[in-house]
This record gives sequence, structure tokens and C-alpha cells, in this order.
Amino acid sequence: MSGGEPLRLERLCKQYGGVQAVHDVSVQIKAGEFVSFLGPSGSGKTTTLMMVAGFETPTAGQIFIGARPVTGLPVHRRNIGVVFQNYALFPHLSVFENVAFALKMRGVSGSELRAGVAETLNLVQLGGYEGRMPHELSGGQQQRVALARALVFRPSVILMDEPLGALDKQLREHMQLELKRLQRSLETTVVFVTHDQGEALTMSDRIVVMNEGKVEQIGTPEEIYETPRTRFVASFIGESNFLDAHLNERTDQGLLLDVGGLQVRSTWQGFERQTGPVTLMIRPEKIIPLVAGSRADNEFEGVIQEVVYCGNVVKYRVQLRITPPVFVTVAAPRHACSPRFQISEQVRIGWDARDARLLTGEAKRTTKGVENHEAWSALFSTTDVNRMAILPS
Ligand code: ADP
Ligand code: MG
Repeated sequence: MSGGEPLRLERLCKQYGGVQAVHDVSVQIKAGEFVSFLGPSGSGKTTTLMMVAGFETPTAGQIFIGARPVTGLPVHRRNIGVVFQNYALFPHLSVFENVAFALKMRGVSGSELRAGVAETLNLVQLGGYEGRMPHELSGGQQQRVALARALVFRPSVILMDEPLGALDKQLREHMQLELKRLQRSLETTVVFVTHDQGEALTMSDRIVVMNEGKVEQIGTPEEIYETPRTRFVASFIGESNFLDAHLNERTDQGLLLDVGGLQVRSTWQGFERQTGPVTLMIRPEKIIPLVAGSRADNEFEGVIQEVVYCGNVVKYRVQLRITPPVFVTVAAPRHACSPRFQISEQVRIGWDARDARLLTGEAKRTTKGVENHEAWSALFSTTDVNRMAILPS
């Protein structure tokens, strides 16, 4: 199989009537790279993919595969393979015929056709299934046939739109690994669309975070998680605490902030603004419950409000002793030696100056604590909560 080619989207826009579905999206994807478009429903992921595939025409902007501009080319001349979530196989055609179809369309026949189909079915581990009909296959096998159909003509780019969304969790995770393995061995360029942050984090070389038709941030999974640049990214990927803060001063030791009358220090470098109201973002696992004698750069007194056992961590909802009161979520790993707190217990929690991020955007009084509150309500109202033991108080 030939390797992939680079793909470049330049200032792509798509307008449907009054709806700006995609707005000014520019992304450069390297040959052989696995890039995910991640965002909530309606953020423009599918529309972007459809324009790359050639099923939709951009209102503005350009698409390049390698050095070739393909914006005006019909679908079959772009050399792109496409896999959709519910990409129905032809129900009346066998596995062989389904996969052979894409090659026949390109004028391949005879022994070359048979060899191409056999090789691709072996790749997706469906050798021997040639004679089966789609209804005689499991969901995972059907999706692998769809993948084989997209791979068989050796496309330089493969587009996948939520290809694993219809599969149950275990099969989905298995297919994630298989897809990754296949992509690495073929060195194909893959653009993968998902609304599942876990899927994007585990599979991608880089992630493009989309929101309301625009790119919020592009980066490696680690960059996106560790250094989210906007409040949207920080709340969409992973869990975050947001605290209203006031940036008072920049010193050699870092930024000095005020949170509810307490001085807080941050060594976060990626913040341009001088002084004024800001949002302080801190991940629940970066907040440490402090036991006697232990210290952190930033410390708060608080009271435990809720406790949820989550297997690998225990989540605490802590009300900070500041005015007006603020709630934070703390995720503490379950070590044998880690303290176990009870509801109503007084605690001291803290974090290191390097672990908090500053986000632009005014501190919003109206949302203070609300996001946390909603996250906790959701946690307690999911069906999974029945399987979580609430620690005895
Ligand atoms: P996603 O795949 O991220 O869920 P979509 O790309 O499907 O998002 O949709 C982005 C926006 O464009 C949505 O507001 C959607 O309603 C709108 N949209 C998508 N396709 C069409 C269409 N064919 N006609 C009108 N509006 C559309
Ligand atoms: Mg979609």
C-alpha cells in the first residue's frame, strides 16, 4: 500500500442559508498523520469532512491534497476513502462484491481485482469472509468491510466520520486499537471525526477542537489537555475547575492573583494580558488534599460536601472557605496511603503554582460554581451512579 499525502485546508467556509456551519477553518495535516476533529454536535465536523470528500462545495476557501488543489474536483477524482458511522454496505452484495465495487469503478478487473480485494480483506482480518452477506456479519465486521472498501483503492487520505459510534464500548475500544495499528502500518493520512474526547485523546497525533463552526485549538492530545487555550477547550476535554480571579501583579516568581481575598500564585507562562479579572483553571487531579505537615504553593481551607467513589479515584466536592463560597472538584487517586475524607470534614487542599492555567475571558459572577454544580448533578443522576458506592459519611 502506498503511504498518505498531506492535506491542507485553507480558510474553509460553508454557509447554509443563514447558518455559518463552518467558518474560516485552516488546518495543515502531514502525510501519514492521524488527525481528529473533536467537538460537540453541530460544531461543523461533518460539514468540513464533506467538503474535503467533495460531497459539499465550500462557500469559500481551498483544499489541497499534496500540492494539488482539489476544491473543484469531483469525489472520485480526489483519491480519498470515506467511512461513515452508518455507511450502509450494499445489502444484496457479498463482502467480496462490496469491497470490489470501489475497484471496479476505477476500471480494475480480473486477477488484479481479486488480488486487491483479498489483500485488503486480510488487512482488516476478514480473509475467508468473501462469500458472506452483510446481514451475516456482526456490527464490528460490517464496519471492517466498510473500512476495507475505503482502503482497497489505496487512497492517499482516509476520512472517517464517527466510524465507531454505533458499536458498543468494548468493541469500540478494540476497533480503536485496530484502526490505529492499521493506520500506522499503512502510513495513511487519516482525518477522524468524533465527539468522544477519550477516543480523540487515545487515537490522534493531533486534535482539532471545533466549536460553532470554528477551530478553537489545534494540538497534540497532551497540549490540548495540559494547556487548553480557551474556556471551551478546558471544559470540553477533561474536567476543569474554573475560579474567578483577579490578576494583580507579574513578578519574577510568577503571577500573583487574588481568589476570594486569598493570594494565589501561578507560574503559567502562556498568558498575555497584564492585570485585571481572569479565570483560573485547574484540573481536579491537580488539586491535592493536604494532610498534616504537607504544603502546596497555593492552599485553601474547605469543607467536604460530597464524596463519590470512582474506582481509580475518589472525587470530592469541596466548598472553599472564602466569600462568596466557591466549590471545587478534587480527584484523589486511591493509594493505600491516601487519606479518605468524609462529608462535613474540614480539609486543607492545595495545588502547585505550575498547575493552574489562566484563561482569557472575564470572570463571570453568574456562572460562579454553576459549572461545577452541573457536573456534580450529572454525576449523581447518571445510571452509573448506581454502581458507585458513595463512601459512608
Ligand atoms: P457536526 O458534524 O459537528 O455535528 P455538522 O457539520 O453536521 O456538525 O453541522 C454544522 C451546522 O450546520 C449545524 O448547525 C447544522 O444544523 C448545519 N447544517 C449541516 N448540514 C446542513 C444542511 N445540509 N443544510 C442546512 N444546515 C446544515
Ligand atoms: Mg456530524
